[in-house]
Amino acid sequence: MSAVQPILSLKSVRKMFGPHAAVDSIDLDIAEGEFFTIVGPSGSGKTTMLRMLAGMDTPTSGDILLKGERINDVPANKRPTCMVFQSLALFPHRTVGQNIEFPLKIRGEEPQRRKARALQLMDLLRLPQSYYSKNVMKCSGGERQRVALARALAYDPQILFFDEPLSAIDYKLRKTLEKELKDIHRETKKTFVYITHSLEEAMVMSDRIGVMRAGKLVQVGSPHDIYSSPNTRFVSEFVGDVNVIPVSLGSDGLLHSSKTGEKFKPPKAPPGFRDGHLVIRPEYLKFLSHASEADNAVTGKLYNEYALGSRIQYQVRVGDGVFVVEKLRQQPFTGKLDDQVIIGWDAGDAILVTD
Ligand code: ATP
Repeated sequence: MSAVQPILSLKSVRKMFGPHAAVDSIDLDIAEGEFFTIVGPSGSGKTTMLRMLAGMDTPTSGDILLKGERINDVPANKRPTCMVFQSLALFPHRTVGQNIEFPLKIRGEEPQRRKARALQLMDLLRLPQSYYSKNVMKCSGGERQRVALARALAYDPQILFFDEPLSAIDYKLRKTLEKELKDIHRETKKTFVYITHSLEEAMVMSDRIGVMRAGKLVQVGSPHDIYSSPNTRFVSEFVGDVNVIPVSLGSDGLLHSSKTGEKFKPPKAPPGFRDGHLVIRPEYLKFLSHASEADNAVTGKLYNEYALGSRIQYQVRVGDGVFVVEKLRQQPFTGKLDDQVIIGWDAGDAILVTD
């Protein structure tokens, strides 16, 4: 553990629902000022974890510490934290200003100071000052999201928890808000703890990501670590399309494909590796003129091509399997569908995982 005390610590935290562990023995430290995202598929335990962190639920066992103090039994309204929900829970018949000022009002702040702070927060959230008197229901979905965040910031919490706040918003606006949220995090220097089922969303915003599966935290790392060094097949498949080949390490030092018997030059293997999966991201696969141009090569048939905006994805059928290759639009592959093609990769561009 680092010398600096984490703002939030989980020690063997577990939550049981009957015999089922929704959150199973989680140990985690979150640093002050960090943007930490918990990501995982539906039912993996994200909401249960966030509810315990925010004080809406108590762990069955283990401890949650806020700056070293045990807070397991401190209710949500007594914690210096604030939750931003997907369903925004704004007051529908009030103005933007009244919504943002609500926390300041219950704290007994004077109207002038409340308004000044609300306008300051609206500025931070890029809401026009003229919206101060606008009915919140006349705002767009994205604007309401910003009002909700401004109101959460008005509480001046030490930690903000976000429960999938962008999941009901259309793709283009979501992409804009993801970047804005990252900017707001940087400007406010608050600790953000965010949950989402989208690793893509987590990648854009987070300092660190914790990947959950069946109640367990299976990997914690920077977006770069999670993308380039996944520790399991599950994590590697969680972000975009990926090529996964079941392999075992032979006494000849080569990887043997369990399905086709083909042999591949391995990347650095985890200690004691015998069986597992070779993972190759689509952008690391190359179309070759000769098999000798890369450490590893396979031959197959080009059978599909998809435009993905800035990239083009090619599918190459090799035996019973399909390899996915991606190229930048400016550097497309010039082959035709049904052509016989050679694709390959250098050993160090692949990853070996043990399950
Ligand atoms: P989603 O992305 O679908 O919201 P999640 O990762 O947030 O999923 P949780 O809602 O934390 O997952 O649920 C984790 C597990 O705990 C699931 O199997 C769920 O059915 C179970 N669970 C959650 N809350 C309760 C409850 N109050 N009583 C019983 N089981 C529960």
